[in-house]
Amino acid sequence: MERTEDVVVGAGVVGLALARTLALRGREVVVLEAEDRIGTGISSRNSEVIHAGIYYPAGSRKARTCVAGNRALYTYCEARGVDHRRCGKLIVATDEGQIGALREIRARAEANGVDDLRWLDHEEIQQMEPELNAVAALLSPGTGIVDSHGLMRALRSDAESRGAAVVLKSPVTGGRRERGGLVVEVGGAEPMALRAERVFNCAGLGAQAVAAGFEGIRPGAVPPRHLSKGNYFSLSGRAPFSHLVYPIPSQGALGVHLTLDLAGQARFGPDVEWIDREDYGVDPRRADGFYAEVRKYWPGLRDGALQPAYAGIRPKLHGPGEPMPDFTIQREDVHGLSGFVNLFGIESPGLTASLALAEEVAE
Ligand SMILES: Cc1cc2nc3c(=O)[nH]c(=O)nc-3n(C[C@H](O)[C@H](O)[C@H](O)COP(=O)(O)OP(=O)(O)OC[C@H]3O[C@@H](n4cnc5c(N)ncnc54)[C@H](O)[C@@H]3O)c2cc1C
Repeated sequence: MERTEDVVVGAGVVGLALARTLALRGREVVVLEAEDRIGTGISSRNSEVIHAGIYYPAGSRKARTCVAGNRALYTYCEARGVDHRRCGKLIVATDEGQIGALREIRARAEANGVDDLRWLDHEEIQQMEPELNAVAALLSPGTGIVDSHGLMRALRSDAESRGAAVVLKSPVTGGRRERGGLVVEVGGAEPMALRAERVFNCAGLGAQAVAAGFEGIRPGAVPPRHLSKGNYFSLSGRAPFSHLVYPIPSQGALGVHLTLDLAGQARFGPDVEWIDREDYGVDPRRADGFYAEVRKYWPGLRDGALQPAYAGIRPKLHGPGEPMPDFTIQREDVHGLSGFVNLFGIESPGLTASLALAEEVAE
């Protein structure tokens, strides 16, 4: 049986960042990915925003890894030539009734160590973004956008240049502890087994299934998986904005925001659609809701300007209306299997947090 020191299950941004970190620390790493390419899961279906760490509860892992991950990601992108832009974002209050909520967002950001937010009044907003309807806004200069695929390619290349192997078309189907280590069963066209000292489950939407397939994991330790789809619509033509634009969050979601890709193309989303199986189709009829939400901050949005684009699925640990748990890193003390680490619920801001999360997990 082949042996390695560390197995990482899943070649999304989190698994690749972890593989890089472990390889840089001198560990022998094999990444097992079910699909035939890296990064086809959640990591390629998101807003590609480098978040500043504004919204998350103070002291939470989301807040901590987002703030640290933001800095680490800019440094990494600059060093490795990964395409990105520190374009900044505006969080807007569209009427006086939202000013209190905007103040609360600023206070929470400060509690998280985000100290560069600037309060803008109506005139300043008009000078910056003339088409925006807002009575006040917070400018976050530390928010930006990144080429998520370029990032994942760079992480993979770093890991491989330190000896890690990324093995595609290798779905992990289960495993167990035997004397001498953890045995990882791999399916696919050429099934095999691999022996490892440690296994890191970074399988995103598949994390619960991977954990449940390992003998010795307490069944009660695997949290339920809830799927929350986020649909995006793209704008035909150029958007008259140079910043990302976010409404005030509601019901635990950041709201239908305007984000730009690195070519300047605008898209709006994600909304929230609770689903019970993985399905990435975007129903064109959801456009009505998008027009209504976007026109609150951009009244000039033309009829017919929005086109269905794509959808991503958040790996939620909670159902609709329930409190939102933190990123979950689970070890033997919780699930009972030594050498095995689960990452559950790595939703937003997991892309931003990936490098910092990798450091925490590797510790
Ligand atoms: C709609 C949406 C918008 C978002 N926007 C942002 C944003 O703007 N900024 C931000 O910071 N974050 C954002 N996020 C969050 C971010 O995209 C995720 O946190 C991050 O991509 C998660 O990466 P991952 O590696 O954990 O998961 P994934 O990218 O899904 O990787 C998991 C990998 O595991 C593989 N896998 C699954 N099962 C198995 C198995 N049995 N064996 C082997 N491999 C397996 C999958 O094929 C996949 O490649 C957003 C998320 C969503 C859904």
